[in-house]
Amino acid sequence: MLETQKLRRDFPILERQENGKRLVYLDNAATSQKPRKVLEAIEHYYRCHNANVHRGAYGLAVEATDAYEAARTTVARFVNAWTREAVVFTRGTTESINLVAGSWGRANVQRGDSVVVTAMDHHSNIVPWQILCQEKGAKLRMVEITADGRIDLADYGKALDAKPKLVAFPYVSNSLGTVNPAAQLSKLAHAAGAVTVVDGAQSTPHLRVDVQALDCDFYAFSGHKMLAPMGSGALVAKPALLDAMPPYHGGGEMIERVWDDRSTWNKVPHKFEGGTPNVEAAVGLEAAIAYLEHLGMDRVAEHEQELARVAIERLSQIEGVTIYGPRDHRAGVVPFTYGDVHPHDLATILDRDGVCIRAGHHCTQPLMRRLGVAATARASFYIYNDVDDVDVLVSAVRKAGELFGVPA
Ligand code: PMP
Repeated sequence: MLETQKLRRDFPILERQENGKRLVYLDNAATSQKPRKVLEAIEHYYRCHNANVHRGAYGLAVEATDAYEAARTTVARFVNAWTREAVVFTRGTTESINLVAGSWGRANVQRGDSVVVTAMDHHSNIVPWQILCQEKGAKLRMVEITADGRIDLADYGKALDAKPKLVAFPYVSNSLGTVNPAAQLSKLAHAAGAVTVVDGAQSTPHLRVDVQALDCDFYAFSGHKMLAPMGSGALVAKPALLDAMPPYHGGGEMIERVWDDRSTWNKVPHKFEGGTPNVEAAVGLEAAIAYLEHLGMDRVAEHEQELARVAIERLSQIEGVTIYGPRDHRAGVVPFTYGDVHPHDLATILDRDGVCIRAGHHCTQPLMRRLGVAATARASFYIYNDVDDVDVLVSAVRKAGELFGVPA
């Protein structure tokens, strides 16, 4: 296990008290807290190097550009991208997926084509494909999940029989914690002639990611779930695909030449980074990656999986608690319901004990319908959580049970 007591001292916000109690932050699947190193990197950038990037002929602008481009190299290394130009900075997973749908999708998906997503996808890996399919007259096919919360491979195979243009799926589910066999899913999709989009929002912060080993075509992730600032993230894609794609946003920096009536495009990745980019986000993301790499992603994964195992074991002992998702191949996400207590009420009561958990549909309404619930409570772990946090969670849930009279 990681040395959580030591790590916590790196996160100023964790010194906060909540209702007179130690803050037990268990909503890491929504966003992580930020270590001092990330906060300092951002401050240092503004204090010492701030200027607009890629434009200035003066030293300061060159420094800002160097900082921004160094972050790109770091991201490329972190996920083992094909090249550093394969990394397009975005505001995060949602923008990355919309970029693929708006650019590759518009150029390649036509009337009568099909696009495949899964019933465990986050809305940000469903809605952009719905918009595209509605615009193009294409069919959106949603692959079912099994009773234990995995992608139903038989149904996946059937969806591939229709030779879809594109297949999108999450590496790790934010609502079930399932770690999907992404390399296998990508291979099957490629054999059917499809391009693959992997939603890496919940995998990049928590596992060792190697996009070349996954052999996906597009990989999207958000920095804010992995210690980095809000509004940071990237689309990582095979360079040949990016080269062939039309731009997404028009504006400064993404062009080569502009005439009165037409323009030519800058090289990849700049073709997709119109306008002044979020340099502080890139710099903060680089510092976050350095922090995670120092811990080692294998240790991070092991730590969270162990916490999830203990949480599932201890929560399951409470009569009336139902845990969702598979028992193995899962990340540090523990979704549950407790009798007929509404998850929002549960979250409100837990907050009194300083415990922050998420309650709701987690932006996965199609999945909630299949689970037969309107909402779940969700505890999600990260590097600064430990077994003490699990115990605080479990006793707060027990207390809530007494308050609400569960089991009735
Ligand atoms: N996909 C998954 C699996 C997620 O958990 C999230 C964030 N909840 C997203 C996509 C969207 O990420 P963002 O809001 O950072 O764009």
